[in-house]
Amino acid sequence: MQRAEGSVGAMKIRGAVLERTSARAPFIESAPVTVCELDLSAPGPGELLVRIETAGLCHSDLSVVDGSRVRPMPMLLGHEAAGIVEAVGSDTPDIGIGQRVVMTFLPRCGACAGCASGGRTPCVPGSRANNAGELLGGGRRLVRDGVEVHHHLGVSAFATYAVVDHRSVVAVDDDVPPEVAATLGCAVLTGGGALLNSAKPGAGDRIMVVGLGGVGMAAVLVALSEASDGHEVIAVDTVPEKLALARELGVHAAYTPAEIAERGVQAEIVVEAAGAVRAFETAVAATAPGGTTVTVGLPAPDARASISPLALVAQGRSIVGSYLGSAVPARDIPEYVRRWRAGRLPVERLISARVDLADINRAMDDLAAGHALRQMIVVD
Ligand SMILES: [Zn+2]
Ligand SMILES: [Zn+2]
Repeated sequence: MQRAEGSVGAMKIRGAVLERTSARAPFIESAPVTVCELDLSAPGPGELLVRIETAGLCHSDLSVVDGSRVRPMPMLLGHEAAGIVEAVGSDTPDIGIGQRVVMTFLPRCGACAGCASGGRTPCVPGSRANNAGELLGGGRRLVRDGVEVHHHLGVSAFATYAVVDHRSVVAVDDDVPPEVAATLGCAVLTGGGALLNSAKPGAGDRIMVVGLGGVGMAAVLVALSEASDGHEVIAVDTVPEKLALARELGVHAAYTPAEIAERGVQAEIVVEAAGAVRAFETAVAATAPGGTTVTVGLPAPDARASISPLALVAQGRSIVGSYLGSAVPARDIPEYVRRWRAGRLPVERLISARVDLADINRAMDDLAAGHALRQMIVVD
């Protein structure tokens, strides 16, 4: 489907629309998401039409469904995906038709104070657009029965096609398979970024990851990909199957939170990726003197933790928040691709199931139950 610039019109797509927030599980019964036909506008200036190849179901999707992240409704979900560019608007100098791209959840305008921070704080117009359910260029490209549907984090990838700003994607070569490419865009970018951008481990530091969801397990993989620096990697979760997988992936030890408390296991770098208060408290307690706790999970806005300020002072410890892995996608994704290509970052191991778009409510139940890592949504 080669089309010249500007010649593409609006098109019909199929997508998964979240109708209302704060739905109760089981979602297979409350059915907050409907798969339906929508109209997708042609890409405007700086925008791309992308045929979605695959999309990962992430905990941040679930957070919108259950209402712990408040977003405007209705919203076409999905923010971790890979696809092929099928048409381009004007002003997309670096990306051509046929290019495989990784979707990223935080567009970067390249011109604001956030973008100048090197990933430490998010892009200001990008965050504003995400909160409004719009693309970086402003407005929405999705309409259903005459009513606009909001974009999820500038992507909305649980669909056959998406129109996205070119600053919401990173190009990858054809040898990177779609499922690998997709996971690099959220799970690996976030979990790996918490470690490499926020914690910045020194040689010989022990690295512990608390909470082995997609992001946490990706942090484990990235920690192991650093193994040449002699890091000991410790995985912590309450679910035995996840600890077993972490052992298979090559961690040096895997424990439940109770076991690390009992045995006094600590690490210089502790990444908390569960987004729960108890996991955060576990992570802080397990941080060795002089060490750093990095928290990348997204707990509910009203969550409060109990920690000892004196223990921070007396032991010279730090707590660092890492929003979305302090990632700069255009800088970080090529590094993860290099590690994957060298066989050091087997992100395929994060994929726990493949699910038809039509079964997305059931997939949300599996994710909420805590036994899914990355379920890849098959859109065609
Ligand atoms: Zn995500
Ligand atoms: Zn910016």
